[in-house]
Amino acid sequence: MRQKFVAGNWKMNLTLPEAQALTSEIVNMLHDEQLGANKPQVVICPPFPLLSSVGHLLGDGTNPALGAQNFHQQESGAYTGEVSAKQLHSVGCKYVILGHSERRQHFREDDALLGQKLKTGLANGLLPIFCVGESLETREANETFDFISKQLQDGLFHLSPEDFDKVVIAYEPIWAIGTGKTATSQQAQEVHAFIREQVAKAYSPEVAANTTILYGGSANAQNARELFSQPDVDGGLIGGASLKSRDFVEIIKSF
Ligand code: PGA
Repeated sequence: MRQKFVAGNWKMNLTLPEAQALTSEIVNMLHDEQLGANKPQVVICPPFPLLSSVGHLLGDGTNPALGAQNFHQQESGAYTGEVSAKQLHSVGCKYVILGHSERRQHFREDDALLGQKLKTGLANGLLPIFCVGESLETREANETFDFISKQLQDGLFHLSPEDFDKVVIAYEPIWAIGTGKTATSQQAQEVHAFIREQVAKAYSPEVAANTTILYGGSANAQNARELFSQPDVDGGLIGGASLKSRDFVEIIKSF
């Protein structure tokens, strides 16, 4: 289902007391704002040890909902130090980020592994927020569209239409993540429109019109409104700015 959507990716930040304070602030501010029909689906993605505590502060967990940043591709078993999709679901996670460039880069997550994770996650009731995005090198070589197209083909389009319907796509140009260098709204719109076109070809125009596509990469309270006003930008996956309650809530109000 296509919807306005803002997810906060806390990455490896915050202690338990800090996470509880931030979550309470966000929940209280959202309550005071009374956004009504304009309220996007909000998701908060803390690190594993903080999930339960943050989840308890989110009310019934529908909006804001709880999300995770990763899990192991196997269902369960002898994988010391790992966390399963089922465990995430059991502590209230509804969403999970998959294919983030930091995991592709630092943990060598490739399309084959991501395919397994998509399958295990969906089988355990988790809704994937699937990230794609090019490096600066790729952009400067004018290969952005080919690169994104391949990431979609190899990473996502093997899903059945029923499963694909559960996926939120996030376009996150690597050169914009955590760098303070945001894509212009035109650059974002251009790639978002391209992604929607690819979805239409792989599935159908109806499926494409129903797909939620987020922008991520140095999105903040100042640039969110301009980014979210683009016709194919349905919201954002927010890193740094999701760690500050006022900034995150301002972003949520930017539709
Ligand atoms: P950023 O991170 O907003 O800090 O650039 C976005 C992300 O990595 O999801």
